[in-house]
Amino acid sequence: MGITERIDQVTRIDPVYRTVAPPAPRSVKVELTARCNLACTFCARSMSLRQHADMDRSFFERLTVEMRQAGVEELGLFYLGESFLLPWLADAVRFAKQEAGFPYVFLTTNGTVSTPERVEAAIRAGLDSLKFSMNYADADQFQSVAQVKPKLYDSIERNLLSSVAVRDRVYEETGHRCGIYASYIEYDGAQGKRMRETVERIAGIADEVYALPLYNQASLVTEREIAQGWAPTAGNRGRVGALREALPCWSIFTEGHVTWDGQLSACCFDHDGRFHMGDLTTTPFLDAWHSDRFRDLREAHLRKSVAGTACEACVAYQ
Ligand code: SF4
Repeated sequence: MGITERIDQVTRIDPVYRTVAPPAPRSVKVELTARCNLACTFCARSMSLRQHADMDRSFFERLTVEMRQAGVEELGLFYLGESFLLPWLADAVRFAKQEAGFPYVFLTTNGTVSTPERVEAAIRAGLDSLKFSMNYADADQFQSVAQVKPKLYDSIERNLLSSVAVRDRVYEETGHRCGIYASYIEYDGAQGKRMRETVERIAGIADEVYALPLYNQASLVTEREIAQGWAPTAGNRGRVGALREALPCWSIFTEGHVTWDGQLSACCFDHDGRFHMGDLTTTPFLDAWHSDRFRDLREAHLRKSVAGTACEACVAYQ
């Protein structure tokens, strides 16, 4: 199954999940690190609204075993940071696959630090899917959006190309095949036109390339994006080509998110701690997934009336 089919399964809220206390989510993203070497203006992480550090390794191992036993099938080893900055990333992949027994382990990278050596270690450890987020039209724009030196821009496409070569080599040797994918933000207007050439180029390299809407990131970057002439969307409506309704938001029914310090978060964009639903360092995963806070938020989403909740500002922007 390719990456877009998997995404669409998670963003579709099947009837069994449309309840205040749904079964364990199919997919959970775990923030091995909240650190990132970029400071993109479309990402609220650059606002430093919470502390950015690495997850405790023994907590990670205990949690992954517990989540797998609870019924989680897909494990994302990232959330709002760049996991290739973590020295024990390949060990985390190996543990998730071999000890916890996850059928599918996936990763997203900004592409600048996913060197061939690091990618090879992760794929040999059992990584099933690696996706490059490619959101810049050229080096100048990369510098102004990601707020780092422009020379890093070339490394993204170079690392994508070498990841495909590494993947093919490991597949020939071991029979294990990791999907290599790319996504890009579907900007509108002039920026959309500028991105077209990049998108056409990477379409011939990755197994699948897909577009994502420009998110307002739980309303944190709405004004910043509008000031740049871009048009953000409300909520998290999934990928372009299979957009969902903003309410109820699939994010709180079908996918879990765990911050580096062990908080179960309701939102894909919890940059400021607004969406913490339970402390997994002290609370079993399913208890936090069914906590009173989480039930109340889901109940508001099912009523399509989120006034007074943490989601109010996000979906108010249309
Ligand atoms: S703030 Fe709420 S509605 Fe918006 S993306 Fe997050 S969970 Fe979904």
